[in-house]
Order: sequence, then structure tokens, then C-alpha cells
Amino acid sequence: MKRVLLKLSGEALAGEKKTGFDEMTVTGVARQVKQLIDEGIEVAIVIGGGNFWRGRTSETIDRTKADQIGMLATVMNCIYVSEIFRYVGMETEVLTPFLCSSFTELFSKDRAVKGLTEKKVIFFAGGTGHPYFSTDTSTVLRAIEIEADGILLAKAVDGVYDSDPKINPNAKKYDELSIQDVIDQKLGVVDMTASILCMENKMPMLVFGLEEENSIVNTIKGKFSGTKVVVSET
Ligand code: UDP
Repeated sequence: MKRVLLKLSGEALAGEKKTGFDEMTVTGVARQVKQLIDEGIEVAIVIGGGNFWRGRTSETIDRTKADQIGMLATVMNCIYVSEIFRYVGMETEVLTPFLCSSFTELFSKDRAVKGLTEKKVIFFAGGTGHPYFSTDTSTVLRAIEIEADGILLAKAVDGVYDSDPKINPNAKKYDELSIQDVIDQKLGVVDMTASILCMENKMPMLVFGLEEENSIVNTIKGKFSGTKVVVSET
């Protein structure tokens, strides 16, 4: 894979704390991504917002406004992670689908691709810019737009299971799975809107555990122990 989109959940940034940022965790991610950049792999990043806010969990606030707060949470996350990436020696750019004045740059495909070819890590912050979507959707959408070779889905669990491994100790992990199965069995690898987008545009995903040592680098280098979501015609 030459050009990848790495998706990190908001919770992944929080480490054990579950909320806010955990510098050790993010620095660990940064060092792995630096290794990929140094080897000529182009890396774009989408980060969720769950360490701060989820639109649908608010019962009092209008959903559109609640989702806007969620999108802004992802902007905070991307600015934070981008700065840690700079600290470990990478060049970065944070792109948003809406204007954040001088805090970020406005997203365009051309700007993103130009940055990637200049060895910059490109952060797609602010989701799709629309309520009722998620960073799963923006992950797949941006991956398609930049013509990525695939999506690296770093999760709290180390792959896709037939049932929740935290609840069912006999849950079976899949090595490989078709996107059609993900949709039919509602496996929730990414949400349904994102799954359909993946299927229609044939964007493969590699799902793995972020907590496993060196898992991002290992995934790219073929030492992959997670679940591959394939998107062939059949
Ligand atoms: N969000 C949105 N549109 C997008 C992306 C995100 O409205 O295109 C909002 C939504 O409120 C979501 C929050 O931002 O709950 C954080 O995004 P994430 O994908 O982490 O949310 P999750 O799927 O965990 O709720």
C-alpha cells in the first residue's frame, strides 16, 4: 500500500483516561506513522470525537447543533495530534470541510493530494461537515476522494468478531470478511452509511488493535493479525 487513510477513534487518544488526551498513546502513534512516512508511504488521518462529545447522546440539545459540537471536537483532536506529530519530526496539515479561520485549511482534494505527495501527514478534521454523519463516513469518503489504496481502521479490539469479545469469551475473530457480510450481518465495523460507501466504491479496510505494539507499522508491512474487509465483485 502506497497511500493509506488511518482512522483513529477519539477514545484511542484518551488511553486509560477515556476522555481528553493521553500524550503517551498519541506519541506512540506518531512514532509509528513517522516510520511509514520515512519509508515513502503517504498517510492521511481521520480522528473521531468520542473522547469529548457524541451528538446522538445528547437528549436536550437539537441534533444538528449537537453534531456540530461533535465535529468541532474532531477539529480539537486533529490539531492536538498534528502538533504531537510535528514534535516527533513530521510535517502536517489539518484540513476541514468548513472554514475555521486561521486554525485549519479548507479541504479540497487537490490540496490534500498535494500535501500527501510532499510527505505531509494530512488530517481530515471536522468530519463531513454535515450533521447525521460520522467520522466513519468521512473516513470512507476522504479515502475514496484521495484514491487511497485502503483504510487502516485502528480499534480498541484487535479485529472483527462474530459477537462482542468483551461479553462472549468464545467470540470468533474473522481473518477475512467481505463488505457484503459486514453489511448483511450488521457487524458494525464502520457504521451502515460508511459500509455502503465502501462497498459501492470498493474501498478495502484493514481492522486491527491500536493497543498492540507496533500494530500500524505491522499492518502495512504484512505482519497483519487483524481482519481484512475485502470488496471484490463477488
Ligand atoms: N459528526 C457529525 N458529522 C460528521 C462527523 C461527525 O455530525 O461528518 C459528529 C457526531 O455528532 C458524532 C461526533 O461528531 O457523534 C463525533 O464523531 P465520531 O465519528 O467519533 O462519533 P461516533 O460515531 O463515535 O458517535
